[in-house]
Amino acid sequence: MSFFEIIMKFTYYLLFFCLVLSLILYRLFPQVLPCASVSWGNFREVAEGVFIENPANEADIEQLMSNISSAKARIKFFWGKKQGKATIILCKNESTYQYLSKSTQGAAFSVGTPIHSWIILNNKDGNNTDVIAHEMCHDELMTELGWWTSKRKVPTWFDEGLALMFDYRFVSATDSLSRFQEYENEVNLSVKEDLTLERISTRQGFFETDGNSVRGAYFLSGMMISGKIARYGKKNIFKTIEILKKEDKFEF
Ligand SMILES: [Zn+2]
Repeated sequence: MSFFEIIMKFTYYLLFFCLVLSLILYRLFPQVLPCASVSWGNFREVAEGVFIENPANEADIEQLMSNISSAKARIKFFWGKKQGKATIILCKNESTYQYLSKSTQGAAFSVGTPIHSWIILNNKDGNNTDVIAHEMCHDELMTELGWWTSKRKVPTWFDEGLALMFDYRFVSATDSLSRFQEYENEVNLSVKEDLTLERISTRQGFFETDGNSVRGAYFLSGMMISGKIARYGKKNIFKTIEILKKEDKFEF
């Protein structure tokens, strides 16, 4: 085999490998390519890592930057720092939101991958401090633990319950005891007995149910996390996170 033939064969295998890898990545993370290319699309970068779909007027920019600043303050207050560096994308059109998030629901969608994270906001109700702080908490937890640990070891109810501590849409009280009591009331009023933590430990179990069950799943998750903080303080949450990091197991 000549040198030229060896190079051709190597190039062929390399291209084939890249193609297969791209297809696998696209299958696993269909949002990555659309999200990673917003800077070339119909978006305006209004701050580092913050994009608004055009036409982005001054009022949109002012409101988004103010909401991001308030959300960051909530994250720093609880975590004592903010490490997550997710790119934030505000979609003005519903169709753009659906194209980027590959979802038809919700005010926002977080995309976490081993290389980068994105927070996609739906302009309808996503340009909001509660929504942004909620998504930033998902990003913060994943950044703290790493993508692999968070995907394998963190139950969805823990991830969502923790995010609710930054999100006052369901429960408006800000101190942990009142939050726990309000979540407990909601659980007693509307959560059916068959909704267990085991059932909502995966994303499929948490989200792929009817609307009432998803709401119940949020209430139950919020009650678990706020109850733990009310009883033992937030240090107990950090203990769970430390055990996950050091021993690769979930203890709550
Ligand atoms: Zn969430």
